[in-house]
Amino acid sequence: MPNPKVFIFAPADTESLKELEDAGCSLVLGSANWSDPTGDTTEKLAEMASGADALAGTSIKGAYISKDVLQASEGLRIIAKYTVGVDEVDVDAATALGILVTHAPTEANWGGVAETMVTKMLTLLKNTRQRDRHMKTGGAWRDLSLTGTHVGTREEDGYEGIVIGLIGLGRIGGRVSKLMAPWGMRIVAYDPYVAEERFRELGVERLGLDDLLKQSDVVSLHVVLTKETHHMIGARGFGLMKPNAIFINTSRGPAVDEPALVKALQDGVIGGAALDVFETEPLPMDSPLRDLGDNVLLSPHMSSHNFGAGLTPGIKWGTADILHALRGEEPEHIYNPEALPQWRERFAGRSLI
Ligand code: NAD
Repeated sequence: MPNPKVFIFAPADTESLKELEDAGCSLVLGSANWSDPTGDTTEKLAEMASGADALAGTSIKGAYISKDVLQASEGLRIIAKYTVGVDEVDVDAATALGILVTHAPTEANWGGVAETMVTKMLTLLKNTRQRDRHMKTGGAWRDLSLTGTHVGTREEDGYEGIVIGLIGLGRIGGRVSKLMAPWGMRIVAYDPYVAEERFRELGVERLGLDDLLKQSDVVSLHVVLTKETHHMIGARGFGLMKPNAIFINTSRGPAVDEPALVKALQDGVIGGAALDVFETEPLPMDSPLRDLGDNVLLSPHMSSHNFGAGLTPGIKWGTADILHALRGEEPEHIYNPEALPQWRERFAGRSLI
């Protein structure tokens, strides 16, 4: 039997490595890891991918799995992502080359993002940080500047609650709408790729993007990063939002024009922001976002990393997908099924392990 090569560009555990080695794979490990996702340069990635039958890993931030990386090995069968999102992979090139891309949208990953969005929203709306600091620094009892915002409907006096606007109504946007449904406020969404039925089932009102931005008190971004969603919210979008509105991004940093967001916050065009993702990750130490005070809540791209969840299920999916592909079998979690006809011709039934 040949000894298939698996290049793991961003390793995340040791168990899956052992499983692959026990199956007879030889492993090459990249330098990116969970704490430092920067990773190797694209040139270095191509060098390390040379002769590989499979690539795998979590997300990397500094480099791109470009066509050059994909072409570094004639026998490359699969790129298996351990997480949701394949934006650092040139999927079009992979499809053209007949290489399968798989990903791992496990609930452990995306469910935690929805929970984090709600946490961030409430932290800002209820002035949680300010109230806590006020107490600990001996501030006067019940300072009215700490008044929060009531979120949900209060039927007894006709208060309708705030409006939550979700951009993207996929797994995470949909879960946020379900988590918030019992609060009874108006939930609106913009997602041109989702059928009317899903809006109906979730009790979410469909709006165009501009109307959503104008009408929402909280705007939360839940889109995949594509050419179309790159910088989809910038100065014009922030300009449409209410002056006290809160903007939340737990999706992908480049979906937002970050300098425009900083300016909107500095100029009081919007009321606040909560961000888990950034245009450059790790966020540079001198980023102005770090100096914007209590109305800006930051976290280091780890919304989905929680006890009881984390990466383990996604790594299991990815490892199973690699082993299937190396056996010449179709993996389960294919992102680019368009690549299958070419893939079947080249690899179906041809096992390397
Ligand atoms: P999903 O594919 O289920 O949903 C994404 C939605 O975006 C889809 O419904 C799609 O129709 C919609 N969309 C695509 N283009 C659009 C456009 N131009 N305008 C409006 N909507 C558009 O993905 P998901 O699992 O819900 O993930 C959402 C985002 O969260 C992704 O970017 C993913 O990478 C990110 N994510 C972040 C973390 C984190 O730790 N912060 C973890 C997991 C996922």
